[in-house]
Formats: sequence, C-alpha cells, structure tokens
Amino acid sequence: MGQVAVFESVKAMRAAVAGWHAAGEKVALVPTMGALHQGHIALVTEAQKHAKHVIVSIFVNPTQFAPHEDFKKYPRTFEGDRAQLEAVGADAIFFPPVEEMYPPGFATRILLLGPAAVGLDDRFRPTHFEGVATVCCKLFTQSRADLAVFGEKDYQQLKVVTRMAADLDLGIEIVPLATFREPDGLAMSSRNRYLSPEERALAPLLHRVMQALAARLRNRDDLFRAVGEAQSEIITAGFELDYLEARHAETLAPVTSLADGPIRILVAARLGATRLIDNIAV
Ligand code: AMP
Repeated sequence: MGQVAVFESVKAMRAAVAGWHAAGEKVALVPTMGALHQGHIALVTEAQKHAKHVIVSIFVNPTQFAPHEDFKKYPRTFEGDRAQLEAVGADAIFFPPVEEMYPPGFATRILLLGPAAVGLDDRFRPTHFEGVATVCCKLFTQSRADLAVFGEKDYQQLKVVTRMAADLDLGIEIVPLATFREPDGLAMSSRNRYLSPEERALAPLLHRVMQALAARLRNRDDLFRAVGEAQSEIITAGFELDYLEARHAETLAPVTSLADGPIRILVAARLGATRLIDNIAV
C-alpha cells in the first residue's frame, strides 16, 4: 500500500480534501484517539466501502476526560498506528497538536440533550459527551468529510454524535459499525491493555452476562428480575458496576418490557482502575 499522509494542521487536511472533492471523490473520516486495534481498522475498511478516500484522525481529546481520568496515561502509539493505517491503505492521518484543536481563548462547548442525558455514561462522566461532541463537531467541519464511521462499541456516543450531526445540519453522514471482539467475546478497546492477567481473564464475563440476559429478554422473562440478576452476577464476579441496563435502542430511554423495544443492553463496569463499557442488541 502507498504511504499514508500525515496532516498536523486543518489547512493541510482541507487542501487535500478540496482536491479530492474537486475530482468528484468522496471522503470519509474515522475519528479515533489512537492506540489502534482491529476494531479501529474495521472502521477504516468500512469507510473504504463508502468513500474513495479515508482520513483517520488521531487525537487524545483532553476535553472529554475528567481531571481524575486517564488522559495523561492514555496509550499513545503513533508509529504503530501509522504502520497499521498504511497497511490497510488509509489515505491520511489527521494528527493535530492540542493547540491546533484548542488554541488559546477557545471557549465553546456543545450543549447536548436527548441521548446524552439519559443517566448512562453521562451520569458517571458528566462532562464527557460535551467534550466528545465538541471535538467531533470540529473534526467534521475541519475535514469537510462526506461521512464518518463510528463503532457501536461506544453506543451512547454513536447516538449522541448521530443526533448532533442531524440537529446541527453538519452535512455529514454517520455510519455505524458493529463491535469487534476478541475470540472470548471481550470488546476490543485501547484500554484493555491496562488489565492485569487476572482482570483480563475475568473481563469477558461482561459479554457472557449480556448475551444470557438478551436471551432471557427475548424469551419474555420478567425484565426487572432478569436485569437485576445479571447485575448481581457481575458484582459477585468482582466488578464495580456503574450500570447494566436495558434501554430503548434509539432513544436510550428506560424500558419496562420487550414491547417497548427495540432494546439495547448497555453495561459499564470497572475492574481495578480500568473502566470497561459494552452493549448488545436484544
Ligand atoms: P477510541 O479511539 O476508542 O476513542 O474509538 C474510536 C472509534 O473506534 C469509535 O468510533 C469507537 O466506537 C470505535 N471502536 C472502538 N473500539 C471498537 C471495537 N471494538 N469495535 C468497533 N469499533 C470500535
């Protein structure tokens, strides 16, 4: 595959995109924080099906981390990321320094309602989604990409970004992609590398419990009892559970029965210092 271009400025990225658009060619954006794994690469492959050119942004976005979170220790593996993107045939990496994204005086945030205010991750990370939305809005308008691919792994984020892109007429299509998993079911995540061997062995339990819960709900088992027992199983196994909930798959509003569906099961749980999130359809 050819060399992947690296743009550190909005100006350089826009010049490339303007050239592609002038030739009548579509451009896709894949926003990431780097430390790329096969899940990210699957997003690039999906993007290539929709557009002739694919830009992958790599930016560990400070505004989506709370002060006590892992911004400083978040893995930064640019050379490895670049090699993987070259191998998959991505056209360009947008790799801006923090000052390019947030110059002195930067003072804007996006206020989110709807799926960003439903008491899931927003309850445990109160400023997270406004940081995500702000940086994604910037990346969309900076790149002027025709579409952006996001993973279902971060399901609430996918719904928040899709809503924002529509509500603010950002002129970009949001394309979702199913979660890429390890053979034992653990959702791939850049944060999995924080897990100790013991924690890593325990981690796939989250997916197993969600699968069993989904099966019970499909069989019309009582929703409150089934969810409650799944929560207990996770806690008994040694996780600190932030939430395990069955929600409406589109609005993320609470549901009381299968009839309120389509239903999505969403979980966030901590093993030591590592916070894992996952979700599946019922
Ligand atoms: P991140 O770099 O973790 O912020 O994620 C960047 C993009 O990759 C987001 O759209 C995520 O939803 C997506 N992503 C992360 N992990 C996975 C996975 N295991 N499968 C599919 N997409 C993923």
